[in-house]
Amino acid sequence: MTTSSTQATAKKLTPVDLYGAIEKELQSARENSTYKVEVPIESQQNGLVKVGGKTCVMLASNNYLGLANHPRIREAALYGLEKYGFGMASVRFLCGTQPIHIELEEAIARFLGTEAAILHSSCYAANEAFFLAVVGNEFGSTNYRDIIYSDQLNHASIIDGIRVARIAAKTTDLKAYKHGDFKQLTDWLAEGNDYRISIIATDGVFSMEGDYAPLQDFVQAAKQSSALLYVDESHSTGVLGKTGRGTPEQCGVHGQVDVISGTLGKALGGAMGGFIAGKRSLIDFLRQKSRPYTFSNTLPPSVVCAALEAIKMLEEDNSLVLKSQTNTKYFRDEIKRLGFTILDGVHPIVPVMVGEAATAMKMSTELLNEGVYVRGLWYPVVPKGEARLRVQISAAHEIADLDLALAAFKKVGKQLGVIQ
Ligand code: PLP
Repeated sequence: MTTSSTQATAKKLTPVDLYGAIEKELQSARENSTYKVEVPIESQQNGLVKVGGKTCVMLASNNYLGLANHPRIREAALYGLEKYGFGMASVRFLCGTQPIHIELEEAIARFLGTEAAILHSSCYAANEAFFLAVVGNEFGSTNYRDIIYSDQLNHASIIDGIRVARIAAKTTDLKAYKHGDFKQLTDWLAEGNDYRISIIATDGVFSMEGDYAPLQDFVQAAKQSSALLYVDESHSTGVLGKTGRGTPEQCGVHGQVDVISGTLGKALGGAMGGFIAGKRSLIDFLRQKSRPYTFSNTLPPSVVCAALEAIKMLEEDNSLVLKSQTNTKYFRDEIKRLGFTILDGVHPIVPVMVGEAATAMKMSTELLNEGVYVRGLWYPVVPKGEARLRVQISAAHEIADLDLALAAFKKVGKQLGVIQ
């Protein structure tokens, strides 16, 4: 159906009708348990937080290295505020670039083993920027088609980025392979020789499962099929690999991924900001062409200085990376010993599988009563019958915190019949 015929037959919604329709939609979300409720955290983000006046073990944060409230990060943010001010009131290319923005881009590139990097206001914006800028460009070609191969469980920002790019550039095809189905991907790559640009897009670590893409295979497949490999390292930078250089380091291909996107909003301080890292020419091109970069404000100095300090800390030593990894192994081993089913892996995202949505909801409420803050995920976020509690471990935890959480899991899991 065309847009105009839809407009011709649909009933006109006045603003009053529209608000009524919106209220109905919200009501249906409440009835289907898909309505998202925000629980205020009354303290700073840490291994232990205050919720409803009570101290709880925080098991739902992306604060993988415990930097969200680390003294060195706070000090760096204050230094940024004092020396460079609160805001720049500008996008980068007008008057929003300070030496620290350039320094941070260089530090990100150095840390990830790429030639250059470009900051964005978020990784969401970075992912959206990339696809539109690249496949949306003719590069002097006529009569061509491009293709993006994307894992079905990729983050929403990759999905939306590809969607926007395909609407703008009607010359782009999409093949979304089943999560982790490398054979499906390589079969499609083998059939795709006629495309002008081929891009393989994958999360490094998948946020619902806590698993990672085997990038050694991806690097090889991309080379063989002359495709560009694009990896979103939001959950992996600072987390995976011996020194926190992410999924490429974990898979032995550090410096071999074509393009890496990532966030400053998780392990690297947890405030906000995103980036793309890759070849210098691509990064320079994005400075010209990225719409979210060109038309959205620069990152504030406090955030930039804090992120710089986070990378400095990672380059100095890997103690926080190791602590996060040791804590993760401890929690994964112990929760299994209690009889819970988890999705195996090495990442601090530990999905504890409980089956039905009602069980996940009840369990997260009961755990909060026991002083453990963890969120449940259920359909439609994950498949029906695969409801889970998504535990996230951090270097901010001490073993005693994890033991408290494990004792609560044991008590509530038994009460609800999830474990014997
Ligand atoms: N990519 C992945 C894989 C993510 O998990 C997230 C955040 O949840 C993002 C991108 C978006 O990051 P940001 O918060 O910087 O927009």
